[in-house]
Amino acid sequence: MSHPLFDISGRTALVTGSSRGIGHALARGLAEAGCTVVLNGRDGDRLADAAAQLPGDRIHTAVFDVTDAAAVANGIAAVEERVGPLDILVNNAGIQLRAPLLEFADADWHRILDTNLTSAFLVGREAARRMTERGHGKIVNICSLQSEVVRPGIAPYAAAKGALKMLTKGMCADWGPYGVQVNGLGPGYIETELTRPLVADEEFSAWVRRRTPAGRWGRTEDLVGALLFLASPAADFVGGQILYVDGGMTSVL
Ligand code: NDP
Repeated sequence: MSHPLFDISGRTALVTGSSRGIGHALARGLAEAGCTVVLNGRDGDRLADAAAQLPGDRIHTAVFDVTDAAAVANGIAAVEERVGPLDILVNNAGIQLRAPLLEFADADWHRILDTNLTSAFLVGREAARRMTERGHGKIVNICSLQSEVVRPGIAPYAAAKGALKMLTKGMCADWGPYGVQVNGLGPGYIETELTRPLVADEEFSAWVRRRTPAGRWGRTEDLVGALLFLASPAADFVGGQILYVDGGMTSVL
């Protein structure tokens, strides 16, 4: 029998960027744990397909761009009206662009910061307005091992994810007193669409396996247990922490 501290059945959760990859796996985990789940992304057809792959009849979709403040405000209001009060928010939507910093275009810098950092502020603020009023809620921001360490060619992404780590702590400071607990989950190298070029690069792929104490790339399912913990009453007194799920990579030289 599962421990009641880990029981999140009956809660309502929104996962941003859940049409595929990590977000979709986390949404599946929440659905399997008995939550009503709202999937989010920018493409309605893609989201409908993603929803059809999940178990149960309590799967909903909300199409909005997490970088658009007005769309976020309308999107969260519509979700609460249509589905019900949000108990859990997972700020997962993110993109990666790799290029040497000297060649990094201004527009790409803004896209990276908007999608990986500002989105968590926009969606988090809208959700937290309601959660703080109700006196409870869980927010999990999907950070990265690159919230801690960086490699050449990925400085803007690491800057965004590093700042997301501090935003997580700041959200905890501001909203913790109102019963809203905020933490981060930091994946290591996980096989998804986002990392497809890296997986295809034999040399890089072998380097990831060598550098990871667990000796392999991560799978999206590897992240589910950590999310369910952070979203559960078991983590009620865990605040502002980043839980790295990276096969040990950020801990070793
Ligand atoms: P994917 O590229 O596979 O998926 C990204 C998701 O985000 C898609 O569902 C996409 O949906 C959505 N998305 C992108 N931009 C927006 C937007 N502006 N508004 C709404 N949705 C958006 O990436 P991953 O699953 O690999 O990554 C998920 C998160 O995990 C990201 O934050 C990433 O930085 C982080 N991460 C990933 C790691 C990895 O190794 N894969 C490692 C560490 C962190 P659509 O295009 O349909 O809108």
